[in-house]
Amino acid sequence: MRLTFAGAAGTVTGSCFHLEVGGRQLLVDCGMFQGFPDLEERNFEPFPFNPREVDWVLLTHGHLDHLGLIPRLVREGFRGRVVCTVPTRDIAHIMLMDAARIQEEEGEDALYTGEDTLTALDRFQVQVEYGEKAPLGDGIWARFHDAGHILGAGFVELNADGKTLVFSGDLGNRGKPLVEDPSYPPKAHVLVLESTYGDRVHRPIEESVELLRQAILDTFAARGNVIIPSFALERTQEVLFILFKLWRERKIPKCRIYLDSPLATHATRIFERYTDRFPEPARRMFRKKRDPFDFELLQYTLTKRASKRIPSDEGGAIIIAGSGMCTGGRVLHHLRKNLPRPESSVVFVGFQAVGTLGREILDGASKVQIMGSIVPVRARIWRIEGLSAHADQPILVDWALHADPEQVFLVHGEESALTALSQRLAGHGLAVHVPAWHETVEL
Ligand SMILES: [Zn+2]
Repeated sequence: MRLTFAGAAGTVTGSCFHLEVGGRQLLVDCGMFQGFPDLEERNFEPFPFNPREVDWVLLTHGHLDHLGLIPRLVREGFRGRVVCTVPTRDIAHIMLMDAARIQEEEGEDALYTGEDTLTALDRFQVQVEYGEKAPLGDGIWARFHDAGHILGAGFVELNADGKTLVFSGDLGNRGKPLVEDPSYPPKAHVLVLESTYGDRVHRPIEESVELLRQAILDTFAARGNVIIPSFALERTQEVLFILFKLWRERKIPKCRIYLDSPLATHATRIFERYTDRFPEPARRMFRKKRDPFDFELLQYTLTKRASKRIPSDEGGAIIIAGSGMCTGGRVLHHLRKNLPRPESSVVFVGFQAVGTLGREILDGASKVQIMGSIVPVRARIWRIEGLSAHADQPILVDWALHADPEQVFLVHGEESALTALSQRLAGHGLAVHVPAWHETVEL
């Protein structure tokens, strides 16, 4: 059995692991590299395998850094099948179509077209529930377990050649309102583990909610706006859920909340289909017809025209817009208007990768470049980390110890996180390796 780290090796994006076992070839994820331009160049590099020979793609979840290169894979000859959970299939549809739209806008540099994406979506032929075995031929089987990361996310338990391999995909945080806590992995021979927050300990979620409330109250007192750059999937719905609760409990005043992201709006429509998969408190809320995705303060600004009508001078608005790391999308307009205003705030509620505008602002830049113009940063910058959809170091360590593997490969992290988690796991007696990009190991 041979495992090649085709992506997310030494970086947090581009998840893709290629496994050859017997006569079969399969991938776990086929994601896009995001962040620095030289990292994004990797999206154009040849795959370290022949896409025509790949039989299966096991897709852990619907984030672009896990599925964004599937249309390219199909374009280069992949004729196998994609296996994922039922919600992931729905999410993949909107994420890939949106990615194709952005690609097409970039013209010459497009990785694929909308047409390629539709062909790729035809390969999504096997949908499973958590715990359900998917036979992959030659006695190999896989199943997904709840990763607690976003709606539909699963970590992969793969059984091949008498060995159990576990691929964490992205592993979730605990105590989240709209996803269950991550399930524990089975005993595994090999563990491929994400490390996004391998060097961090998250603050409790209640503290994060309180910090968000403080940011809103302070900003409104100064007559500013609160800009929340948000990932379209999960984080946006979670922020809406928290805002709805704060408002119902009269902890924030009546205000205008805009969801200014077509992608996040489509994602929210998908979440509405799966409310029965939420943890019990959220399920109960929906049963009582209290709908955090549809309440009187909330406006969806689907069209560009509606987006432009969002007033920015008078303050008192909460604007949630993508992209989550400020690398594009409507949030750029809101940042351009609000960053120079000391009365406004930008509240970061998600991971900001090195090389992104979000990270630059978070790291304290006094001015930034947005759509060709230099914008001074005078707004107050807030960082709320406890809402993260990723496990922190204690959760990752606890989880890895449950799998009790003979070998751990740490992926999907920046260098400091990989080093810290590696040392911690080694301290618990585990054999840890941090693979290089395109490295192959025999198992
Ligand atoms: Zn993810």
